[in-house]
Amino acid sequence: MKIEASFILSAASASDLPRDGLAEIALVGRSNVGKSSVINALVRRRVARTSAAPGKTRLANVYRVARGGGAPLYLLDLPGYGYARAPKGSRSAGSPEAARRASQNEFEAIVRAVFARQPAGLLLVDARHPGLETDRAAWQWIREAAGEAAVVATKIDKLGRGERIRALRTFESVLETSVLPVSAVTGEGLEELWKLIDRLKTSG
Ligand code: GDP
Repeated sequence: MKIEASFILSAASASDLPRDGLAEIALVGRSNVGKSSVINALVRRRVARTSAAPGKTRLANVYRVARGGGAPLYLLDLPGYGYARAPKGSRSAGSPEAARRASQNEFEAIVRAVFARQPAGLLLVDARHPGLETDRAAWQWIREAAGEAAVVATKIDKLGRGERIRALRTFESVLETSVLPVSAVTGEGLEELWKLIDRLKTSG
């Protein structure tokens, strides 16, 4: 099936975001969860930059994608969360805490700008780390803020059979929703992810 994909821009604020009314899906996840890899695997080319230094990206990257002659949509790739936490007790240094707060504010501003548009939301979680508090918190606000939302577990190729069953079970019980396992390396789950995106797009 033919896939079209292009990088549109990196948005720092609401005014940078597209205004042509196409469906939007916001991708959310911790730094290093594999978000860029999933985007590239979905569109079968390297539109997203992987393994950028964690914390460098303070912007929402906007991609326009279409598959098989279907209506195009925007993937709004939000900055990864959970990277700039100064270790507890490092307050004495003063500036790391201030820097952390500044980057947290920036992160929240772009997240608010994107979710004000009521996109569909896709939370990416690392299959190896079920039940992280940051992921639970993210899932809670995505469910509240997004029109429609779903969860994808990345890097599923890294788990053996037993581990994978246990991990998915834990995710599903903690997040109280079904979780789609995918791998950017083996391609597992990508067809299902396209279908999920199509569903979110039409009901979002
Ligand atoms: P991002 O920060 O969320 O955009 O994460 P990246 O896409 O840059 O991926 C972070 C790291 O995880 C990189 O070293 C990737 O090669 C690796 N990675 C991403 N997806 C997969 C996957 O499906 N399987 C495996 N084994 N590694 C992955």
